[in-house]
Amino acid sequence: MSASPDIVIIGSGIGGATIAAGLASSGANILILEAGDHIADLPENRDQRAIFQRGHFRPKEFWYEHGGGAFNPGNYYNVGGNSKFFGAVLVRYRAEDFVEMKHREGVSPAWPIPYDELEPWYSAAEQMYQVRGRQGEDPTEPVHSTPYPFPPVPDEPAVAKVRARLKQNGLHPFSLPLGIDIDRWLAKAKTPWDAHPNSFDGKMDAETVALALALQHPNVKLQTGSRVTRLQAAADGKRVETVHYLQDGVAGSVSPRLVILSAGAVQSSVLLLRSADARNPTGLANRSDQVGRNFMNHNSSAVLAMSPRFRNDSVYQKSFGFNDFYLSDGQGGPPLGNVQLLGRVSGKILKGNLPKIPEWLLDRVSSHAIDFYAMSEDIPHPESRVMADGDRIVLKWHRTNWDAHLDLVAKLKGVLKQAGFPIVLSRAFDKRTPSHQCGTVKMGLDAETAPLDIWCRAFDHPNLFVVDASFLPTSAAVNPALTVAAQALRVADHIRAADLAS
Ligand SMILES: Cc1cc2nc3c(=O)[nH]c(=O)nc-3n(C[C@H](O)[C@H](O)[C@H](O)COP(=O)(O)OP(=O)(O)OC[C@H]3O[C@@H](n4cnc5c(N)ncnc54)[C@H](O)[C@@H]3O)c2cc1C
Repeated sequence: MSASPDIVIIGSGIGGATIAAGLASSGANILILEAGDHIADLPENRDQRAIFQRGHFRPKEFWYEHGGGAFNPGNYYNVGGNSKFFGAVLVRYRAEDFVEMKHREGVSPAWPIPYDELEPWYSAAEQMYQVRGRQGEDPTEPVHSTPYPFPPVPDEPAVAKVRARLKQNGLHPFSLPLGIDIDRWLAKAKTPWDAHPNSFDGKMDAETVALALALQHPNVKLQTGSRVTRLQAAADGKRVETVHYLQDGVAGSVSPRLVILSAGAVQSSVLLLRSADARNPTGLANRSDQVGRNFMNHNSSAVLAMSPRFRNDSVYQKSFGFNDFYLSDGQGGPPLGNVQLLGRVSGKILKGNLPKIPEWLLDRVSSHAIDFYAMSEDIPHPESRVMADGDRIVLKWHRTNWDAHLDLVAKLKGVLKQAGFPIVLSRAFDKRTPSHQCGTVKMGLDAETAPLDIWCRAFDHPNLFVVDASFLPTSAAVNPALTVAAQALRVADHIRAADLAS
């Protein structure tokens, strides 16, 4: 590996690791600079008190509200990025998400490419991440050119009963497409995987899948503990010439031919803003003034349904969802969103949010409850912004479509009451949970209105690509990771076809 590799990838999350896997066999010398380290195989990985009560894995980082105080966001910096903690729902955006869609509050714009354009790479990403799923259950499922590589993760008996009741009541529950080898996961410890870190225990994340594939090639190197601080453009402001980083406090730099920025939607936009120079006074790739704007993060709530007559003895629980309110509210009105099971919420997890209530009581509640996640689209808004203020990251999240989300939660409560759960409680997630952050360096057709073209290449800098959740023009109302992975593979193929790799 030379001191100046052909390609530098900044970040080893879903975007960075997947594009590394897509480019690895090109023979180009690829260096992945990752701010964090590997998640070790420790007892805390499956200790719910450590994770949810003591915040063992939570980065000691603060972001700032615009005009407000500091808060500690659950944004993870380690090899594999946020996917090490993810719920492993690897689901496609619906075909309708690629065209303009009217919502209660505004319009979700059309993508610059149609669903059919991305479809082959959705299939490739599902194969790579070994997704377990079943087609034909969800009427909103888009066309697949290739079937899921594995059958779905089975419902546990208590969960199967609830699925059957919902079906009887006219809904269309479907098996969640999941990147989890359930036998391997449970062999280590009987816990759910949602928000639990994965070492190499069966969760298909960016490190265990894509990065592992990439690192089989001797031309790919991972350098951990290396936080990129600045991208330096050439004197004419065009090519990115130098990538500056700090490795364990020591400054280093590399001058690759291609730079692929995959630091996550917040960090990638901040890095571009902080890399401003005389030729690019508002930051790199920012002629459109859109870098950091259009921050989206889904409107989402946890919804707990309880019944003294229901006994939940499931371990992982997270095996089905439904989209009956996805394309409309069920009565011909605008869309409301997706519903999916959460990983099983135990008393230990509940206590993280309800510290004054004894754990034994919360365990009793949990044993009669089933836990859902309701998710609604957050529409891009130019005043929903990530900003850099010196060393500080400032977040001004302008939530949109909240009313539709409240309606989704109300509809879900109605559905669950009808299914035999007299008590249904909900709690919304806020800015401290930026799990589905996206949109801050969007792709588009026009350099005046978007930083990136349809190949995630910066209009303003011929050797700069941004490949992570930043590029997403809309958030849809499904989990983002598979769409990021599919586009990463599409961009890798484009870079190779255009002979840009080496
Ligand atoms: C608890 C949780 C559950 C989730 N569940 C799901 C789910 O079920 N399905 C789904 O689709 N999505 C889920 N998500 C979201 C999903 O994990 C993210 O959408 C996805 O991982 C984003 O990938 P990314 O490449 O954009 O960025 P990240 O995962 O944020 O990766 C960015 C990487 O860059 C590194 N980095 C950051 N700054 C720098 C820098 N300056 N220099 C060098 N490296 C840097 C970071 O350490 C990180 O490794 C979940 C997220 C969380 C937190």
